Amino acid sequence: MENSLAFARRLDQADPLRSYRDRFYIPERAGKPLIYFCGNSLGLQPKSARQALDRELVIWQQHGVEGWFEGESPWLTVHQRCKQPLAQIVGAQPSEVCPMNNLTVNMHLLLTSFYQPGAGRTKILTIGGDFPSDQYALETHLQTRGLNPADALLEIFPRTSEYTWRTEDILTAIEEHRDSLALVLMSGLHYYTGQVFDMAAIAQKARELGIPVGFDLAHAVGNVPLKLHDWGVDFAFWCSYKYLNSGPGGVSGIFVHEKHHDASLPRLAGWWGYDETRRFDMTKGFVPMTGADGWQLSTPTVLAVAVHHAALQITAEAGLEALRQKSELLTGFLEFVLRQSGQPMDIMTPASPAGRGCQLSLLIENDGKAVFNRLTEQGIIGDWREPNCIRLAPTPLYNTFEEVWRVGQVFQSS
Ligand SMILES: *Cc1c(COP(=O)(O)O)cnc(C)c1O
Repeated sequence: MENSLAFARRLDQADPLRSYRDRFYIPERAGKPLIYFCGNSLGLQPKSARQALDRELVIWQQHGVEGWFEGESPWLTVHQRCKQPLAQIVGAQPSEVCPMNNLTVNMHLLLTSFYQPGAGRTKILTIGGDFPSDQYALETHLQTRGLNPADALLEIFPRTSEYTWRTEDILTAIEEHRDSLALVLMSGLHYYTGQVFDMAAIAQKARELGIPVGFDLAHAVGNVPLKLHDWGVDFAFWCSYKYLNSGPGGVSGIFVHEKHHDASLPRLAGWWGYDETRRFDMTKGFVPMTGADGWQLSTPTVLAVAVHHAALQITAEAGLEALRQKSELLTGFLEFVLRQSGQPMDIMTPASPAGRGCQLSLLIENDGKAVFNRLTEQGIIGDWREPNCIRLAPTPLYNTFEEVWRVGQVFQSS
């Protein structure tokens, strides 16, 4: 690699995905496009979102309630539009995925189904320092079951003076606590460090020992290739407003492995999960739809799902393999220009491309906030975490190698 504008431009020229940038609105300041490295927080707006939204608004305007049943794709089956692209993105069968609710809601719903303490097995193994919402969900979910989180949660931390987890430590912990574990549930990609976990190995270990395993894929979906079905993951959930670009608060999604489609799992149900052929009979006694659809509770948020669908099509069309290839190069180039910049920093994110997604988390040694402010002044949108962490996430759909080089230049002059 070379730390030069010419080199960055050559990489852009050779990038087979370069046309995808044009499918998004890039925010501007004073007429100049910002360098947006914040797709880990809120992905940019696909230009197709407005049209997708407008289409449903027109149906509502012209047909009112009939929109549920009329037209080419009635709202009644709006969730089905997303199944194919979602299945492709997370490595699932269409029956195993469904868009619904928001992430933390889905986490509680799936905990209800998959956390079945009993016969000495009561504990949930997770990683320490996971995203706060996940921590609060686990803590309070356990309390509603009459359990003390301090006893029932087994949190695995990185080793002293290491930022990230070693797969062997997670596998050993699962092995060691095999007789007391009722569930393994953790992020698939850590929001703070950018580490991607070896989900295949963790799922395999848990499965061998008969322990159900689930992943929060908020930072993994659309970022790294996933094979949830083949890995034998029992369940998963994610949000769509980060790397899936489905808009602020966009609809979440769930995965439930085919092996659990026999309707026997306990669940918190609502009418939208009821057997669709008989839903409007309004009869007593819950009969779930087959597959992930049977976890739906409520009338879908049609407008959000329409935008979600438009956004998913872009990611599915580009394909996770191609996106990942570019992503590794883009993030590798960012790491290279940062190291060349001379700015004293520690990169918390694993150095190996296999151990990370697109995000790099930088611990700035001196006045990190000043560095971050300089980035912002220069039109670079990253993300700041107290006390001294800058997270930068160049995304392969809409970021360029030239942008990465420009970010490096700002660090160089800091
Ligand atoms: C972004 C994120 C969330 C957010 O949850 P919402 O219910 O969508 O607000 C939760 N968990 C993780 C790991 C996240 O990265």
